[in-house]
Amino acid sequence: MNLVLMGLPGAGKGTQAEKIIDKYSIPHISTGDMFRAAMKEETKLGLQAKSYMDKGELVPDEVTIGIVRERLSKADCQNGFLLDGFPRTVAQAEALEDILSSFGKQIDYCINIEVDKAFLMARLTGRRICSNCGATYHLEFNPPKVADVCDRCGGPLYQRADDHEATVHNRLEVNMKQSKPLLDFYRQKGYLRNINGQQEIDQVFADIDELLSQLADH
Ligand code: AMP
Repeated sequence: MNLVLMGLPGAGKGTQAEKIIDKYSIPHISTGDMFRAAMKEETKLGLQAKSYMDKGELVPDEVTIGIVRERLSKADCQNGFLLDGFPRTVAQAEALEDILSSFGKQIDYCINIEVDKAFLMARLTGRRICSNCGATYHLEFNPPKVADVCDRCGGPLYQRADDHEATVHNRLEVNMKQSKPLLDFYRQKGYLRNINGQQEIDQVFADIDELLSQLADH
């Protein structure tokens, strides 16, 4: 199953992505994670991405599309993939269509987790991420069993710099503006499926799972 996962920051994308990849054994392809890893390793890609990421700007399409093309050509994507954080522009979405059609594939669904803005503000400032394995938690909605420690690997949890309250508002505005043309693009293609993100984590997943199990039956 070939999936694009969308949702504003804090909509629960990371949490649902983990559940989807666990159940359906498909790779989670997050361009943000790929850029962060490249920055940590100080590769050429990391250096290219850093100046944009530090300013909260998008990394240029040619760089981003290139890494996605390379990633999607790997053997573990044969049975599907979950794209997260990509596409971010209509040009990227169009490039993705071209990349996939060159492999004789297409997107099955663009899953959009819908949550309203006030709810997101509360969610974002409470988000914590494992600095070791990348698992996501929330102080209120999905707390770790032991404060500041990852349930999965025991790694220390941290708050992403861009989850601090001062930057959250701007980030949402920018994201809403960015995502609208993409949602329109996928709606027109017939791929868009909206999921109510303002429910318990397990219920959100149940709704996604209902959609995906139909696909898996095919
Ligand atoms: P994320 O973790 O998805 O919020 O991404 C963090 C940062 O990585 C973004 O603010 C961008 O600078 C960069 N980035 C991630 N995905 C993309 C993309 N599809 N296109 C351009 N830049 C991206």
